[in-house]
Amino acid sequence: MSVLIKGGRIVTAADDYVGDVFVDGERISLLGESLDVTADTVVDATGKLVLPGLVDPHTHLDMPFGGTTTIDDVTSGHTAAAFGGTTCHVDFCIQAHGQTFAEALGDWHAKRDGKAIIDMGFHIAVTDLSEPGRLEELATLPAQGITSYKLFMAYKGALMVDDETLFRTMEVAANTGALVMVHAENGDAIDVLVKEALAAGNTAPHFHALTRPPETEGEATNRAIQLARVAGAPLYVVHVSCKESVEPIQLAREKGWDVWGETCTQYFFVDYSFLERPNFEGAKYVYTPPPRAKENQDVLWNAVRTDTLSAISTDHCAFLWDGQKTLGKDDFSKIPNGGPGLENRLQMIHEFGARTGRISLNRMVELLATNPAKLFGLYPRKGTIAVGSDADIVVFDPEKKVTISAKTQHSKVDYNLYEGTEVTGTPETVLLRGQVLVDGDELVAEPGIGQFVRRAKFGEELRGARVELTA
Ligand SMILES: [Zn+2]
Repeated sequence: MSVLIKGGRIVTAADDYVGDVFVDGERISLLGESLDVTADTVVDATGKLVLPGLVDPHTHLDMPFGGTTTIDDVTSGHTAAAFGGTTCHVDFCIQAHGQTFAEALGDWHAKRDGKAIIDMGFHIAVTDLSEPGRLEELATLPAQGITSYKLFMAYKGALMVDDETLFRTMEVAANTGALVMVHAENGDAIDVLVKEALAAGNTAPHFHALTRPPETEGEATNRAIQLARVAGAPLYVVHVSCKESVEPIQLAREKGWDVWGETCTQYFFVDYSFLERPNFEGAKYVYTPPPRAKENQDVLWNAVRTDTLSAISTDHCAFLWDGQKTLGKDDFSKIPNGGPGLENRLQMIHEFGARTGRISLNRMVELLATNPAKLFGLYPRKGTIAVGSDADIVVFDPEKKVTISAKTQHSKVDYNLYEGTEVTGTPETVLLRGQVLVDGDELVAEPGIGQFVRRAKFGEELRGARVELTA
C-alpha cells in the first residue's frame, strides 16, 4: 500500500516548502519536488498544508475520577482526536492505592484493547509507594516503554502525593531515564480554602477558582523545580495556567536547568468570568488549574512564543455537563474536574496563534507535535515529516471555515469549551502510519488500528523495531 501526497505546503518545526510526500507501507520513504512515482492512492494537496500528525501529551480517556468516569472512552476519544489532526497521544495510567504498577498497566491496556484508532502510550501516575517493592518496580518501567512518571501535588485524599513520594520518584527518575511530570498546586492549602468556602455557604462553581488561587500553583511549581534540582531529575510541569507558575519555569530555564512547561488550549481562551455564568453553566469550565484572570492569556502566548513553555496539550478530561457535572449542583467541590478539547486544539491554535501572527506555523507544529514527541520519547518516529518517520500526516485546508460546536463534534461530551467560535482552517485528510483515518467528514478507519507505542527513554530517540506491547 503506497500513498502520494502531491503539491502541498509541507510544514515541520524546521521547514516550510512545497513538495510531495511518498509513503510506502507505514513510513515516509521519499520527499521531494514533483516526485516521479506511482502510488495506490494519490492525494492532491495543492493549496493545503501538510503537517505531521499531532501528538497530545496529556489526556484522560476512560478514567475513574470524582465519583464518576470520563465520558470519552478510547474509541470516542480517538475519533475526536483523529478529526482534530492528532494521531498519537500519551494518556495517564493511574495507579490506584495499593496497586502494583503492573496491575494498573493491565487495567489501562484493557481499556484500549481492540478500541484504539490512533497510536498511544502511557505515562504512569504514581499515587502510592507505601507497599514494599514499589520503588523497585517503578524503576523497571522505562525499559518497558513507560518513560514518564506523573505526580499530583493536588487532590488531597485522592490522587495527591506527599513530598516524600514526589522526591523519591524524582530520585528513581534520575537513575532510570524517565521524565517526571507534576500537576503543580499546593493541595494542602487548597483543601483548607475549600473547607472554609463550603463552611461559609459558598457552593457555586466559581468558588472552584477562588479556592485555588494562582499563588498555590506558583508555590508548587517552584517546589517541584527545586526538588527536581536536588534529585537530579528532569521535570515537566503540566497545564501551566498563570504568571505565578510561568515565572519560576522561566527562571529555571534561564539557569539552564532541565525544566519544561506545558499549557493547554483552554487557558488561552477561557477566563475566570466563564465560571460565573448563570444556571450552573459555569460548571462546564470547572477544570484544574481553573480558568484564570484574563491578563494571564497574554502571559501564556508570550511564554509559548519564547519557549518558556514548550508544548500545548488539551488535558482532555471530558464529563457530561448534564448528568456528571451536576454531581456538584449544590457543592462546587463535587463537580468532576475536567474539560474536553482533543478535537479543537489545532483549529484554535492555528486560528488564534498562527493566523494572528502570535506564533509561526513552524512554532505551531513544534508546540503541538515535535516538542511533545521529543520530550516523551516518540521522536523522530512521531512529530515530524522526514524519511523513515511514521506516515502520520495531516492534510490541512487553511481556507475552510468551520464553526466549532458540540452539535458537530465527535467527542461524547454534551458541550464544547469554544462553542460558536469561527475558525478558518481545519484538517481534511488524516493518515496514521500510511492508512487513511479521516477523509473529509468521514472516519474511514476501524477501531483496533491504533497501536501502543513503547516510548524511548528521556533524551533518547525512538528508532528500530516496532513492537506492539500487549497487556
Ligand atoms: Zn490532566
